[in-house]
Amino acid sequence: MERDGNGWADCQCGSRHWGRHGAAGLFLIVEEHALLQLRPQWAHQGNTWGIPGGARDSHETVIAAALREAQEETALDPGLVTVKGVHRLQHLGWRFDTVIATAAQRPKVSEHAETVSLDWVDLVDLPRWKLHPGFAQSLPELLLPVVTLIVDAANVVGSRPDGWWRDRVGATERLMTHLEQIAGRPVMMRGRRVLLGGVEVVVEGAAKAVPDVALDRLVRVVRASGSGDDAVVHRARSLSDVVVTSDRGLRARVPRTIPVSSLWEMLD
Ligand SMILES: [Zn+2]
Repeated sequence: MERDGNGWADCQCGSRHWGRHGAAGLFLIVEEHALLQLRPQWAHQGNTWGIPGGARDSHETVIAAALREAQEETALDPGLVTVKGVHRLQHLGWRFDTVIATAAQRPKVSEHAETVSLDWVDLVDLPRWKLHPGFAQSLPELLLPVVTLIVDAANVVGSRPDGWWRDRVGATERLMTHLEQIAGRPVMMRGRRVLLGGVEVVVEGAAKAVPDVALDRLVRVVRASGSGDDAVVHRARSLSDVVVTSDRGLRARVPRTIPVSSLWEMLD
């Protein structure tokens, strides 16, 4: 595949950033230690510690870009890591996506020519290291509990009488556009601040005609093969998954839920 991401982006914040389609990095945490790399002196923001990462190509997802860059820079085997979610730092015209991941044990890594040095740093010590400014800015949000929202789309869309019954696909697309604005960001949920690391929108019936989202989006579509409720239950396996539904029957079948009204509070 062509590497079309390499290049500078002139951002409306007044800075130039690396990555024509944005950039992505891997924040890998194993047993309370994070994998960091010292950026070479000659690099942009050189001689600071950051995470492996680089420009995203237009044909990759954010997660694929972060894992590819980490593999190139540290020889990490991406098959050994489990992605927990994505944090998005959005500028006007550019963005940096941090893919937060973990592994059962420290995977083997080795120093690539581009990398001066790699180290596993205790999370408690991180603020005392000379960190890359962008990484340091995102760090407090990267350390929040990561939550994936599983959205019962029919239930959410049906909760507002805005004419959704005339155009279920359009109503679902509007919901997904709203959700994209909070995906990858910190939100208040069940009384605590969490990082919304991913959003899955489960659709059924006529809403299944909703188009696939662009590769750089964090909101994903899950088309139920049978009942929407069964698909939601199937997706909500992990303890970090929170289901958005006000359907009493569905609430009894999944471990953690928030009512539809709580989602609207986050979105409005
Ligand atoms: Zn910028």
